[in-house]
Amino acid sequence: MEELDLKYIWHPCSQMKDYETLPPMVIDHGEGPWLYDIHGKRYLDIVSSWWANLLGHCNPDINAAIKDQVDSLEHVIFANFSHRPAIELAEQLAKITPPAIRKFHFNDNGSSAVECALKMCFQFYLQGGKPEKKRFMCLTEGYHGETIGALSVGSMDLYAKMYQPMMMDNIHVEAPDCYRCPYGKCRENCQCECFEHAEKAFAAHAQETAAMIVEPLLQGSAGMRIYPPLYLKKLRALCDRYDVKLICDEIATGFGRTGKMFACDYAEISPDIMCISKGLTGGYLPMSVTCVTEEIYDAFYADFSEGRAFMHSHTYAGNPLGCAAALAVQKIFREQHILETANQNAVWLTKEMAAAFGSHPNVGEIRHIGLIQAIELVKDPATKEPLDASKRTGYAIYKKALEYGLVLRPLGDVLYFNPPLNITKDELSQAIEMAKKAIGDILPA
Ligand SMILES: *Cc1c(COP(=O)(O)O)cnc(C)c1O
Repeated sequence: MEELDLKYIWHPCSQMKDYETLPPMVIDHGEGPWLYDIHGKRYLDIVSSWWANLLGHCNPDINAAIKDQVDSLEHVIFANFSHRPAIELAEQLAKITPPAIRKFHFNDNGSSAVECALKMCFQFYLQGGKPEKKRFMCLTEGYHGETIGALSVGSMDLYAKMYQPMMMDNIHVEAPDCYRCPYGKCRENCQCECFEHAEKAFAAHAQETAAMIVEPLLQGSAGMRIYPPLYLKKLRALCDRYDVKLICDEIATGFGRTGKMFACDYAEISPDIMCISKGLTGGYLPMSVTCVTEEIYDAFYADFSEGRAFMHSHTYAGNPLGCAAALAVQKIFREQHILETANQNAVWLTKEMAAAFGSHPNVGEIRHIGLIQAIELVKDPATKEPLDASKRTGYAIYKKALEYGLVLRPLGDVLYFNPPLNITKDELSQAIEMAKKAIGDILPA
């Protein structure tokens, strides 16, 4: 099977030559946080299969909901037509999203939800008599997906730099960098001094800017960089002052990953647009929603002849199977007190992580939010000097961890846990043990 795979398949986000030494793990089945390959070896999926799997693999309740749905309706065109699962899901989303969010535009993956949000903001101002507002602001090290528009509001060189000539000319605002704070502050005692970069950018560019897009509180792809809610609060106020829309990309942070339903909730703000995907369906099916305020929706509402409609569609928008999975996820959240348990386990996990890794000479910082824990490896914690990236230490640890049965896929030299929310303490302890061995093998203390 491994040979056949390499004969035909080009895997995402991979240098395929690496597969010469690390062939693909061909997974036969999954259960909870565990993946079982065709040779019977099991792996603890501590990264939730790219942050999507929210409640374990082959969750019996989600499986049942999808099976039930597939026997009545697998898919239907979503223009002019609708169906019960989508309607119920939208009603449910209205209950759990921030108060100003009122309308739900369905798409079929995270990047498309972001593209949709950008186009909406541009069109909002175009139709509102401000055609000069056609640029976007974003944070450095931000990540919002891989399509050209989404890449244009992303700032990670690894994914975006090469495509610069194809991209929109956006405004990149220096992001908070709490581990290496240039102001010498820490998350607990700062007033977001770094917000001055946003203030300067708005003063210079707000009149030509339609929206600012951010990953609230957690810049995931950047290496699980965590910043304080105060930054978001200030950003909401700044956007209001300058008439710029605020897009919160909750694709990675939504559905309890940060310990609250949405990361925005920590700052008690309502964005103008919120993008959700990944955990939305429990990580089962590709679905996303661009959630908007009444104000934005109303700006498109007119007689057809006025040409104000949002003519944007994706074939699988509102897919009933995805909606059924998402409804099952919401039911599980309510009935099984997922957030409460996850938050209790998060407190425990934070202590365990500190005990297991805190004194290692290459651990610069262990940061956490919700059940997410990230270990930033450095050459020397005193200077915070990064490891030599060309040594690919994180990747070496990843390969070692796989031998022990742990999927510890890193972000550069940042190792992280982002497990399903219903993982048990025992499983987390096993993950720590395996991670400890793998780190010890590559970076002996
Ligand atoms: C994963 C991710 C995306 C892109 O979603 P895809 O479904 O992979 O297109 C966008 N934004 C954030 C914050 C993400 O984590």
